[in-house]
Amino acid sequence: MIFSPLPGTPVVTQGFGQNPDIYSQFGFLGHNGIDFGVPEGTVIYAPNDGVIKIKDDGTNGYGLHISIQNEKRYSLLAHLSEVTVQDGKSVSQGDPVAKSGMTGFCTAAHLHWTYKLLKNGIVLNKDNGYDGAVDVTEFTRLWLDEDLHNDAAYTDFAKEYLAMSFTDQQYLKNPNRA
Ligand SMILES: [Zn+2]
Repeated sequence: MIFSPLPGTPVVTQGFGQNPDIYSQFGFLGHNGIDFGVPEGTVIYAPNDGVIKIKDDGTNGYGLHISIQNEKRYSLLAHLSEVTVQDGKSVSQGDPVAKSGMTGFCTAAHLHWTYKLLKNGIVLNKDNGYDGAVDVTEFTRLWLDEDLHNDAAYTDFAKEYLAMSFTDQQYLKNPNRA
């Protein structure tokens, strides 16, 4: 089970795979994660258990960001204003780890979340056009099903992406992919 980095009513401002024209310059088929529009200083929680790595790209790329990795899961949380855990520390899913911001290549405060699946610590599907990043909505329905996300609000931009109907056991599909 995967856990959103934001409780309450996260606003999705950009879905996975969107804007291929922008992300081709980074070698991706489209947006390699999900963006949440949140005010600077919003507390961010660990989507999965793992060891924290802190990096700071300054005004470039992801800006101040962290990865949280274990044998099976990898999350990258970017454009942070502050990291509230120490580099190298092990955290549990749901632990507060950082605060959102707009560091790096960023035009408005938001949280970027990239998620990858691993096997024995090795990223799976690295040749998928997103360097192994996957659409979290494709393998979890938590986002739309759990109380945490029942009231999630989506921008018009993201609505189309998330306007999906499905039956039990059916994974959500990314409409941007064939
Ligand atoms: Zn993003």
